[in-house]
Amino acid sequence: MVHSKISAQTELGEGPHWDDDQGCLWFVDIVGHRVYRYHRGSENLESRLLPDDVSVVVPRRQGGLIVTLGRGFYSLDWTSGALTLLSSVEPDRPNNRFNDGKCDAWGRLWAGTLDRSERDPLGSLYCLDVDLRVRKVLDGVTVSNGIGWSPDQRTMYYIDSATKIVAAFDYDLERGELSGRRDLLFIESGTPDGMAVDALGMLWVAHWDGARISRWDPQAGTLLQEYTLPVDRVTSLAFGGPDLRELFITSARHGLSPDVLDAQPLAGNIFSMTAPAPGLCAHPFGG
Ligand code: CA
Repeated sequence: MVHSKISAQTELGEGPHWDDDQGCLWFVDIVGHRVYRYHRGSENLESRLLPDDVSVVVPRRQGGLIVTLGRGFYSLDWTSGALTLLSSVEPDRPNNRFNDGKCDAWGRLWAGTLDRSERDPLGSLYCLDVDLRVRKVLDGVTVSNGIGWSPDQRTMYYIDSATKIVAAFDYDLERGELSGRRDLLFIESGTPDGMAVDALGMLWVAHWDGARISRWDPQAGTLLQEYTLPVDRVTSLAFGGPDLRELFITSARHGLSPDVLDAQPLAGNIFSMTAPAPGLCAHPFGG
């Protein structure tokens, strides 16, 4: 079942991304300002300290990494630690920052923002295209979070945590465009956070303050399985390992009282379990 896999003790662990080329898991500690690389074979864990909140890390096809830092998209050279600004958003909203993001099968990076108070719909969803141009795709978002695509790439799933809803859009992969938004699932236990999709097209949702992950059939709208964790703040999840059957789950210590932290010493670690179906492969940034 679910067990603690990486004793990272992150403040706000997030953004797990399986890198099949390197056999490693990338993830971030948003408010701890760190990017991590975990080699599954050697269990070696390395990190880099960055100068701001870092919410997304994905490899680039041409080499190196893309990260979202504050309100900007940056390239990151892992060896030297050099950061280069590619594009930034929302200069008029200094209290906003980027949050969750993911690449589509074309290699575009989709990532959204939130207002740090997490109360008002001041965030937006953006798409960084492979030519490094940025488009705003949605606005009026409160806490932009999990993103995923169906195995046939014709549906995009999206979570604005404040709505407690997993929404679906028709997805045009060739153009990178959304249409036909509809509400798919309402999450009752805790708040929906990160998301992953397995090879059978089932949705996996991390429950912030819900101490669990859940698996859903998006066509029927039914809950298939739930797996509990020994920590309240479950943030995101990603399939990895050589056969994409290992599910890595991030968690947080952020905002928990000393009493809760005493009772949940594993909070902030990365958990793992063997999934009942393999996941879809994660895509690198194509630009
Ligand atoms: Ca998140």
